[in-house]
Amino acid sequence: MAESEGRFDLIVVGAGMVGAAFACACQGLGLSIALVEPRPPQRSWPQGETDLRVSALSRASQRILTRLGAWDRILELGASPYREMLVWEGLGKGRIHFDSADLGEPDLGHIVENRVTQLALWERLEQAPGVTLFCPAACADLELDPNGTAAVTLTLTDGQRLTARLLVAADGRDSWVRQSVGIGTSGWDYDQQALVANVRPRDWHGEIARQRFLPTGPLALLPLRDGRCSIVWSAQAERAAELMALPEAAFAAELTQASESCLGDILAVGPRASIPLRLQHADQYVRPRLALIGDAAHAVHPLAGQGVNLGLLDAAALADALDQARALGRDPGGLWALRRYERARRGDNLAMLAAMDGFKRLFSNDNAPLAALRGWGLALTDRLPPVKHHFMARALGLGDGLPPLARP
Ligand SMILES: Cc1cc2nc3c(=O)[nH]c(=O)nc-3n(C[C@H](O)[C@H](O)[C@H](O)COP(=O)(O)OP(=O)(O)OC[C@H]3O[C@@H](n4cnc5c(N)ncnc54)[C@H](O)[C@@H]3O)c2cc1C
Repeated sequence: MAESEGRFDLIVVGAGMVGAAFACACQGLGLSIALVEPRPPQRSWPQGETDLRVSALSRASQRILTRLGAWDRILELGASPYREMLVWEGLGKGRIHFDSADLGEPDLGHIVENRVTQLALWERLEQAPGVTLFCPAACADLELDPNGTAAVTLTLTDGQRLTARLLVAADGRDSWVRQSVGIGTSGWDYDQQALVANVRPRDWHGEIARQRFLPTGPLALLPLRDGRCSIVWSAQAERAAELMALPEAAFAAELTQASESCLGDILAVGPRASIPLRLQHADQYVRPRLALIGDAAHAVHPLAGQGVNLGLLDAAALADALDQARALGRDPGGLWALRRYERARRGDNLAMLAAMDGFKRLFSNDNAPLAALRGWGLALTDRLPPVKHHFMARALGLGDGLPPLARP
């Protein structure tokens, strides 16, 4: 490619769910966009097969994906609504039940395969004027002027040089961009693995998402349209390795027990995978000509299924900041626009990271008085409709301060 062909307004590194959503959100801002991704999305899969990586998408995410023109395609490819949520304590009797009907909402969210969300967004991007996809492509070098006065230059491993006024890193939790520019992170490894699988229980799940807090880590059973459940079972690394190694029948028996047979016996278990868990927060989200979004900026424990929901809000907030910069004729890669994004998202993300970490610690403790207190807290909250409504509204993304793409 000739050097002139490599000049853009915006480079997005990473076109997973968050990077692809951000690029879609920037269409219409009059920016030329380069999107760099090493792995093409999966285009097709056998009918009835459900991937292991799924996400619970909130109402705010649904709104964003609707406005980006991807939601109808997601429904066509397959999404499983969940109308209620049941959370209970592994050691005591405390439980809490959330019902979308209490808020006058049709559901509390949808379970969607990550590959479905990504593909629906890619299909939009492939038709979008002004968007150039570099895929498969890998990054080799990044030059960021420390004063941010000049453009940012990204060199790909095949030698192509892309320049832009702003580079946005959406390249996930191990972000190459973040590491290349030396932005540090705070956080820690949980020494826990999330074991994921799709399982068939004896009983119909009733479109209820269930989560049991065990002292060894939370176990979530998320309802799928075909009656199976997608499980996320977090456990210490050693226990997770043991569970991964069990033959299917023995694993099913362990899962039946761990879920307190809430859906009867687990009859069948599909392939299993395990993912190491980490809490991580980037020390900075922005530098002149650079912004981090999604897991590149923050990785959260999956116990409340918030990671990609936060990432989509980042994408919407950054697109909004760029839109405001455009309206005022300001530089999209300048700190005026980028700090607006950072201010809009950093506090919210940090609060969610802290809350999820707090829950994880509170419920991982098998101290008897603490367990009793937890059970009491859950039972009490269950009997306080205003508090429950507040939690539900937050989880659904019905709160204030949302970026325009996520607003009702
Ligand atoms: C077990 C588990 C369950 C979860 N459940 C939920 C849930 O229910 N709800 C929820 O909201 N979140 C959930 N999450 C979190 C969610 O999966 C992540 O937050 C989400 O995938 C982050 O999206 P992302 O696009 O920022 O990053 P990623 O999904 O990691 O995508 C990064 C993209 O960047 C690309 N990339 C990587 N390196 C480079 C590079 N050097 N150059 C260019 N591109 C690169 C990758 O190929 C990929 O396409 C869960 C996480 C786990 C582990």
